[in-house]
Amino acid sequence: MAKSSERRETFYVSTPIYYVNDIPHIGHAYTTIIADALARFQKLAGREVFFLTGTDEHGQKIEKAAAEKGLTPIGLADKVVGRILDLWKALDIEYDFFIRTTMDFHEAGVQKLFQQLLDKGDIYKGTYKGWYCVGEENFLADDVPLDPDGTKICPDCGRKAGVVSEESYFFKLSAYQQPLLDYYAANPSFVRPASRMNEVASFVRQGLKDLSITRTTVKWGIPVLGDPKHTIYVWFDALNNYLTAIGYDWKPDLFRKFWPADLHLIGKDILRFHAVYWPAFLMAGGFPLPGCVFGHGWWLKDEAKMSKSKGNVLDPYQILNAFGPDALRYFLLREVPIGLDGNFSHEGFVNRVNSDLANDFGNLVQRTLTMVRSYFGGIVGEPGPEASDDAALRSEFDALKARVFALMNEYAINKALEEVWVYLNQVNKYLADHEPWKLAKDPARKPRLARILGQATAAVRGISYLVYPVMPRTADKVWNYLGETGRLRDVRWADLAFEGWDPKREVREPQPLFPRVALKDFLGEEPPKKETTMEQIGFEEFQRMDLKVAKIVQAERVAGTTKLLKLEIDLGTEKRQMVAGVAETYPPEDLVGKSLVVIANLKPAVIRGIESQAMLLAAVSPDGKAIIPFFDREVAPGTKVK
Ligand SMILES: [Zn+2]
Repeated sequence: MAKSSERRETFYVSTPIYYVNDIPHIGHAYTTIIADALARFQKLAGREVFFLTGTDEHGQKIEKAAAEKGLTPIGLADKVVGRILDLWKALDIEYDFFIRTTMDFHEAGVQKLFQQLLDKGDIYKGTYKGWYCVGEENFLADDVPLDPDGTKICPDCGRKAGVVSEESYFFKLSAYQQPLLDYYAANPSFVRPASRMNEVASFVRQGLKDLSITRTTVKWGIPVLGDPKHTIYVWFDALNNYLTAIGYDWKPDLFRKFWPADLHLIGKDILRFHAVYWPAFLMAGGFPLPGCVFGHGWWLKDEAKMSKSKGNVLDPYQILNAFGPDALRYFLLREVPIGLDGNFSHEGFVNRVNSDLANDFGNLVQRTLTMVRSYFGGIVGEPGPEASDDAALRSEFDALKARVFALMNEYAINKALEEVWVYLNQVNKYLADHEPWKLAKDPARKPRLARILGQATAAVRGISYLVYPVMPRTADKVWNYLGETGRLRDVRWADLAFEGWDPKREVREPQPLFPRVALKDFLGEEPPKKETTMEQIGFEEFQRMDLKVAKIVQAERVAGTTKLLKLEIDLGTEKRQMVAGVAETYPPEDLVGKSLVVIANLKPAVIRGIESQAMLLAAVSPDGKAIIPFFDREVAPGTKVK
């Protein structure tokens, strides 16, 4: 019954509907970012995509929370929905439809589905008696043990539960035990990751009881047709959004096109409802089943689960304001595979963003395009003949593109990014090995230089395309710097070629893609100091550092900073520019004419939009002041220091 996603022309992906009695946090953002990246990828791949997200707005908790705030339940829901929509906008989430369970068509659809199963005998009326937690609006699982005083404590919130007995409609879940087990056996990838498939199957094997699906005690919900003192309870209301949102009973063409869903993305805490109740409801209704229910892990803060009650919820805006959406999207998708838990620390976040995005990716783009502009006025033009390592850069891109395609289809986004970064660093190495800044000095080698920079630019274009699903804003920027006239999103995956870069097109002046942010600036405080013991190194490692005497030719402050100077230095055979954090100790005019020691072969870094092509040596005092060791007699610029 599951469809094979490889053959389909459409792709339907959903997030859970988020409960409106909650502040949107990183956990909500995570699921939605995964869905957005996969939806964007599938669109590039040429499929017609339906990306669904939304809100769950019924239930006693909403009723209570609204009353406390002096609002109507729908008034409260409207407010929270506004906040969620703002967050999705700030994160560049491009959903196709946002469902609210208070929408008319949803309520009508759920009532109709209920009636169908009632007529069929899969829903029947009985009496439910059980331990009930008002906080969770939930009957406790039967295996929660009795306390010594004969009562039960809710395992989720620690509050005392009470026995509730009421007339209720039941869904005949017990009848679907064997059909579910058969379905799991025939479709082992229905639940992912695989470890969770085993958990689900063993839960079902222990036996399924019929499920109470209405309440007479909850008013804020969808009434049962013909028996309106009953309100349809949580899961039969919420899960059916996946049917009603794509047109069940109100847009038949849309429904036919997209059902069954390819992928339901959910947090692992609601896996049982999606992997047991949901397929059972669908089987009862005669619907084909979705392709995959993927239970992703949790983001832990300092190893603890984030929750409103613990007060350790991360505010996404703290990160968005400092770094923009792409850095957060990248970090969440790169750091862990979708099925595992991740630990969020600000230090881990800043380190990854500075290293992968500012250094590796940002520098490559900045350096390549800056050279194209300064050596060729922005247009590379006709390149010289291709050498073997040029060809390798091209053929490896083709292989990378195929691997990324396969991995994204498998929802292995972190692996896809890993692969892209291996290639990206290969391009960085290609540039470092060919030293275009040296070739640029010899007019006779201009065709060779054109070949090398053309290749690097083509690679930059290809890389930006591959990271677009994860970092759409950045990819669009690069596309714009490259002078592309069409939109990246309109280029189909199959049509993207390394050779698609046109060397006659003018490259625009790039702006730094990912400004470096120091951890202490981000947190507004010093990070905890770590004891560091330096490791011993061999003489060969020391020899790899190109230490030279440099004479400062010019010095000026970097606008908008108190610490940074931009220096022009003379290395004997060449002049370079560099950025140094010494402005608090030395006014620029004191430095001109002085000689000092620099590391000449350190990878260039872009600091405040200025490429720094060397690093000076200085003693740094605990309060951050830098003291430069100068020479006590004249030394010629370029002299080796060893
Ligand atoms: Zn509870």
